[in-house]
Amino acid sequence: MNPLSQIVRATCPIYRKLSTSAPITSAAKQIPSTGMCFELNDEQKALQDLARKFTKEEITPVAAQYDKSGEYPWPIVKKAWEIGLMNGHVPEHCGGLNLSIFDHCLTTEEIAFGCAGIKAALLTTSIGQTPVIIAGNKEQQKKYLGRLIEEPLVAAYCVTEPGAGSDVAGVKTKAEKKGDEWILNGQKMWITNGGVANWYFVLARTNPDPKCPPSKAFTGFIVEREWAGVNPGRKEQNMGQRASDTRGISFEDVRIPKENVLLGEGAGFKIAMGAFDKTRPPVAAGATGLANRALYEATKYSLERKTFGVPIAQHQAVAFMLADMALGVETARLAWQKSAWMVDHGQKNTLVASIAKCYASEIANKAASDAVQVFGGNGFNTEYPVEKLMRDAKIYQIYEGTSQIQRLIISREILTAAKQSNA
Ligand SMILES: Cc1cc2nc3c(=O)[nH]c(=O)nc-3n(C[C@H](O)[C@H](O)[C@H](O)COP(=O)(O)OP(=O)(O)OC[C@H]3O[C@@H](n4cnc5c(N)ncnc54)[C@H](O)[C@@H]3O)c2cc1C
Repeated sequence: MNPLSQIVRATCPIYRKLSTSAPITSAAKQIPSTGMCFELNDEQKALQDLARKFTKEEITPVAAQYDKSGEYPWPIVKKAWEIGLMNGHVPEHCGGLNLSIFDHCLTTEEIAFGCAGIKAALLTTSIGQTPVIIAGNKEQQKKYLGRLIEEPLVAAYCVTEPGAGSDVAGVKTKAEKKGDEWILNGQKMWITNGGVANWYFVLARTNPDPKCPPSKAFTGFIVEREWAGVNPGRKEQNMGQRASDTRGISFEDVRIPKENVLLGEGAGFKIAMGAFDKTRPPVAAGATGLANRALYEATKYSLERKTFGVPIAQHQAVAFMLADMALGVETARLAWQKSAWMVDHGQKNTLVASIAKCYASEIANKAASDAVQVFGGNGFNTEYPVEKLMRDAKIYQIYEGTSQIQRLIISREILTAAKQSNA
């Protein structure tokens, strides 16, 4: 076990072993089993409290400042790394804690409540790590995931290109085999952590035959930032989540040793797509956290602001907006919880992960827009917290697969299931 893990385990009670299979509390044990349990176990409650406290003390007070400056929040990343709020799901043989996706989602929702941009900066590293967790061999995992445990470094996931986002099979970045190496050339776009990552998961076409099916045409590589020919572009100026570092990256004759191929030649598409079953639940949890913040701010304001001699909360039209926000937060949370629980229990969660991601994204946008409405003119002004929520919410409907693509997946899954049940 590496020194960091030892310190974290020794100093923080939650790091005994966090898993969804940990025993439930004694109070819950007295209730006859219904096969369902909505209670977090004690370790999960401690993890949630830790993330909530960290968010309140370290993130919320500086969220507006990072939104304005667009700086990458390295000081917060370092503190989160020190107390173990990053990299929790890294396997134990790499020095990690092998936490569940559910536990990762719990912290994600809390952090997004403070700032969705800082959440993206802190936790998108998990998306870069997931292909290595699901498809890396022991040596690759130890080298690259272990590195993130040893030092406060982050990873990134490089699939999208200027000409290929939703249509991943349109990826043009190519890698050609030369002896024991692969030579990588191409251009990626919109890569979160693009300028700050220590290494990248990169999807490249390795079979030039246009007739080759996507399931065999692409290969996944681990590429180090410091290698010759890896050139991140300028930081993009985005509408929201501005603390997050988004860039294009060009790869020019980058030499990749064969040891950095994930799983094998031709396995890349499956790895890149398979990662989403584990990464969409946390994105949904982040959107839920943002929606919950919108509800919190709007509720508080509605009790303070008076019109026609009463707090605006007493106007039913306003109170019903709050009710709609609460409906959204509660149901979006249930959706991410189910999708995370399923994948943690080895069940195929593609359908529910897409439902959770699509639904929570839309809830977040509606809640943020309604919060602006509750604030009236003040809501439109940068001195108040809700216009940022509205800007930060939009990207949830775009990254990690747009809402249209989620509906494509959901409809495909239900139609396939219907055909199978009729067969
Ligand atoms: C801030 C930010 C961070 C990002 N981070 C990353 C990252 O870390 N790594 C990474 O690889 N990518 C990242 N992305 C890229 C993101 O995943 C893509 O932008 C997204 O998948 C959409 O692709 P596109 O932008 O090419 O849009 P397009 O694919 O061109 O889509 C344009 C519109 O057409 C719709 N559309 C497309 N095809 C269909 C269809 N078949 N049916 C119905 N509607 C369709 C889309 O829903 C969308 O509304 C990020 C993007 C942003 C903006």
